[in-house]
Amino acid sequence: MSTSTSPRSATSAPPAAKNKGKGAGKGKKSKKAKKAEKAELKALAKKAKKAAKKSAKASKSSKASGKTAQHPVGWIEPAAEALRPGDLDALDCSSTPGWAGDRTAAEAQLAANGERLSELQEKLFADGRSGGTRSVLLILQGMDTSGKGGVVRHVVGQVDPQGVMHTSFGVPTAAELKHHFLWRVRNALPQPGYLGVFDRSHYEDVLIARVHGLVTPEVWGKRYDEINAFEAKVAAAGTQIIKVVLVISPEEQKKRLLTRLEREDKLWKYHPSDVDDRRRWADFRQAYQAVLDRTSTDVAPWHVIPADRKWYARLAVSQLLLDALTGLDLTWPLPTFDVAAERARLEQS
Ligand code: AMP
Ligand code: MG
Repeated sequence: MSTSTSPRSATSAPPAAKNKGKGAGKGKKSKKAKKAEKAELKALAKKAKKAAKKSAKASKSSKASGKTAQHPVGWIEPAAEALRPGDLDALDCSSTPGWAGDRTAAEAQLAANGERLSELQEKLFADGRSGGTRSVLLILQGMDTSGKGGVVRHVVGQVDPQGVMHTSFGVPTAAELKHHFLWRVRNALPQPGYLGVFDRSHYEDVLIARVHGLVTPEVWGKRYDEINAFEAKVAAAGTQIIKVVLVISPEEQKKRLLTRLEREDKLWKYHPSDVDDRRRWADFRQAYQAVLDRTSTDVAPWHVIPADRKWYARLAVSQLLLDALTGLDLTWPLPTFDVAAERARLEQS
């Protein structure tokens, strides 16, 4: 393990303390002068206390929000807390939980997050190459047009693709159907050092499978516990799991599907079954609620992201990813060779 240096404290002696010794050893002072000095010291001490309070408050709120100097208004609550699952029916899909900034600020924050994400992902990759066992898995769920692909492009796309293992889960093939539903998921898990991304996942096996009756209720009913046990094992092996559901309103989905039908470059994304699934909105909503209620665990909690505003959804996923990677406390691997000796050898070569 390498050690990291802690930032040097910027605190200097408070003004009151600096001034305290100023008049020392100057002989006897008049009562009036003493009184004035006392008052001055009191005022300075008060000022210093106020300044210290202000700076502590500022550092506390910037720590919680991860905001940068350019964007004074940003996260007012950590994303993971603001996005805790609740009652889906009560969710306002155009809300921006935890974020007090506007779209412009969000886009700037997304760009700033991207730079940090990219560095941390490289550290993760380096760690994996040096015998580390850790990896990160982002699981994206959401109805058609909810923006899963946009998150992959605009958030995951900010890091080096060499370190990403991306998998889209569609209708299982005949070969996949011969196996347990978790088989294809296990095969797609990220290797150490990688950022794994699932566009849909094993959750389809308790969502579409439940809503469309692809298996009996007895079969899908057992899957929640199987999923929890599976994810607990994955987490114990070193994978940090981030589960995200992007929630759009039926009105917004209609708009987005219409765009797909109207634009030549979007037609390929449309599938007639999208309209059939729209008709079962309430059933899907119920199935999603069951997923949240039964599979949000300590090691793999769900985050519910209102997704009618794409800029917010992307920022929220980026923040969750960034916070998770930051929490891994990654350090650059130490060399397994003598750097000075290698430099000398290189110079002589
Ligand atoms: P898309 O994400 O739009 O490319 O569509 C993929 C389709 O595959 C969706 O309609 C999913 O519901 C479906 N799908 C994904 N996983 C499963 C699964 N395990 N069983 C049945 N359908 C699935
Ligand atoms: Mg689709």
